[in-house]
Amino acid sequence: MNRRSFAQSIGSAAMLSAIPASTALTPNSALSRPGKLMVIAAHPGDGIFTMGAVLAQQIERGGSGVLVSLSLGENGAPKSIPVLEYGRMQRTATANATRLLGAEALFFDYPDAQIPFNQESSLRVCDAIRECQPEIVVTHWSGSWHKDHQNCYLIVRDALFYAVLETLVRSRPAHAVSKIFYAENWEDATNFVPDTYIDIEPVYEKWLQACDFYPMWRGQTGFFRYNDYYSSLSVMRGCLCGFRQAVALMSDTDQRTQRLQSL
Ligand SMILES: [Zn+2]
Repeated sequence: MNRRSFAQSIGSAAMLSAIPASTALTPNSALSRPGKLMVIAAHPGDGIFTMGAVLAQQIERGGSGVLVSLSLGENGAPKSIPVLEYGRMQRTATANATRLLGAEALFFDYPDAQIPFNQESSLRVCDAIRECQPEIVVTHWSGSWHKDHQNCYLIVRDALFYAVLETLVRSRPAHAVSKIFYAENWEDATNFVPDTYIDIEPVYEKWLQACDFYPMWRGQTGFFRYNDYYSSLSVMRGCLCGFRQAVALMSDTDQRTQRLQSL
């Protein structure tokens, strides 16, 4: 079975070598100019482990990328490392990882495990979206047991609404994001149904190097084997869609609607 017939066999799922600027699900998408992709994560590890490969792929194709981390994930510190010091380590790891991938990094200062979903946080993310002007946003899916992840989803949802609202006067003009995707995350698995597969083979090794800046990736701060899980997950997703390694994303409900004159 070749890739085309496999794609047909899995129905409406989209297989993309990367996400183009504004027409990710159209037949001519491969010809489009790669745009800017913004990753918005509750914690730095989420940003690089679950969204970093797509970020790297977008940049590899000639696009650009920015990672926004709402907190430093400092409360994931092991007993042997003070929380503040671990936060600094997380920030340094993220700076190194994004530098390796060629992306910008923006750090918000909300305390880990206490990221608030309110007007202030939504407007702050709105301002970052207006400032950076991404065509694509990748963030957490709502089906999470982690309150920071749930709040990140809600913050981004409102921030995208505020960002496009021309009558909302901020320091930067309104900006509309064309595509929104949710990342596959072991902590956000409830009702996560992927429909878009990205070929990450060209950036797989670089993405693993970026992940390796974090002690938690190697299991040094807790029980979860992040390296085994996410490296294996990308191989498994690749098996399902005919690539060596792939990232599976879930597209926002609104962008699944197709407007066709015929089938
Ligand atoms: Zn997290």
